[in-house]
Amino acid sequence: MLRNLSQTICALSTPQGRSGIGVIRVTGTQCFPFVTLICKFSPEFLNDQPGHVLRRAIVYDRSMNPIDDVVIGIYKGPRSFTGEDTIEIMAHGGPVPLRRIIERLLEAGCRHALPGEFSQRAFMNGKIDLVQAEAIADIIASETDRSHQLAMSQESGGLSRAVSSAKETLMPVLAAVEASIDFPEDVGELDYPACVSQVEVCCEALDKLIRSGTRGILFREGVRVAIVGRPNAGKSSLLNALLRNDRAIVASVPGTTRDTIEEGYNLRGIPLRAVDTAGIRNTSDVVEALGVERSRSIIRSADVSIHVYDGTDPSTAEDDEIVALLQGKPHLSVWNKCDLQVPKEKSGWNIVISARDGTGISELEDALYALVTEGTDDIDDRDAVVTHARQLHALSSARTACEHALASARAHMPPDFVSIDLRGALNHIGEVTGETTTDDVIEEIFARFCIGK
Ligand code: GDP
Repeated sequence: MLRNLSQTICALSTPQGRSGIGVIRVTGTQCFPFVTLICKFSPEFLNDQPGHVLRRAIVYDRSMNPIDDVVIGIYKGPRSFTGEDTIEIMAHGGPVPLRRIIERLLEAGCRHALPGEFSQRAFMNGKIDLVQAEAIADIIASETDRSHQLAMSQESGGLSRAVSSAKETLMPVLAAVEASIDFPEDVGELDYPACVSQVEVCCEALDKLIRSGTRGILFREGVRVAIVGRPNAGKSSLLNALLRNDRAIVASVPGTTRDTIEEGYNLRGIPLRAVDTAGIRNTSDVVEALGVERSRSIIRSADVSIHVYDGTDPSTAEDDEIVALLQGKPHLSVWNKCDLQVPKEKSGWNIVISARDGTGISELEDALYALVTEGTDDIDDRDAVVTHARQLHALSSARTACEHALASARAHMPPDFVSIDLRGALNHIGEVTGETTTDDVIEEIFARFCIGK
């Protein structure tokens, strides 16, 4: 069901729990009357204030008992984040005063905001586009300095500008094609070579954005790394060495890691989730067998795997099974326990480590970083960078439509063929910033946001 954006909404914008200050936001057409009611202001007080000011106030309950002594931020639409009249109530950050103020607002006639509803209103009122809205959610969700930096550059409109410029290269081409359809006597036949070269310019811009997506999505979403190997190879020890703590249980009894352990970790700005799997071997133990099956599925779903060999006993049939599972998937082969045994020859292992004493761990991190960022080194994080699969999908669809338009134009097909695909391309480009995005997709995007944002 679509959200009713005409109602006045409120929500706690700071986390639940105790803090110095808690902020409750109110936005909508009835924002000022409702806050006037709960703070017992004179009817014209809020309207008479200039926008962007702070005022001290008391919030009262229905019996005129004070609930809290607060500061309110007054923002007058359209000069506010949502584009509507908005008030931010900065109250004492205890669960009781905050809950009572919200209850009071609900009594006055507010509705509790749904996730992302403030940002959705900002989008609907043209204050931000969809890329910027997604960037706001990313700033809050960012796990590393790099992903935060990328989100900030999106929020300030970097990607939106690049997308608009791609769109602007295509608009005049479409106008020329359509003029040749509608007014052939006036404008003559379509200038096919000119059309081709202009669409090619747009394709170049789209290609650059699409390539940036590999890196942007990597730094925002991160990667899942499976640590695999037969029992006792040192997988849990490696996870601990990477995380620099003792999260995984290390033991010399084969098959200790029966389930999987997943831990987040920052690999030079890439949010990485390392998964320590149950050792892969043939076993009669039912529980362990379940773990082994899970390892298989984790290898299948992981972005990258690290195959850990036990250097004191390398390459058994069980390792061969893992090698087979890893075929064609990005992975590193690591010789572990080099403090006990070093490989006789260099080949076959990317890295030689000791998970116990830390030898080779930083080389392993170098190799892992190089593997996951492969082919994206020339992308400058300060440029427009695509960071969401949704944006990438829309741009790729636009690119395909341009390709079809190019094929038609190169073959001097009737201009209608070219125009249909150019329209399609523009439509897909518009999906990125939200101009042509359908309502249900928009609802879905905002539903993933925090409440109060
Ligand atoms: P997993 O079953 O593959 O997770 O292996 P563990 O990490 O539990 O390690 C199995 C055994 O090997 C433990 O006794 C570890 O202390 C030992 N071990 C792991 N890595 C090393 C290493 O680099 N050097 C040495 N000497 N022992 C290690």
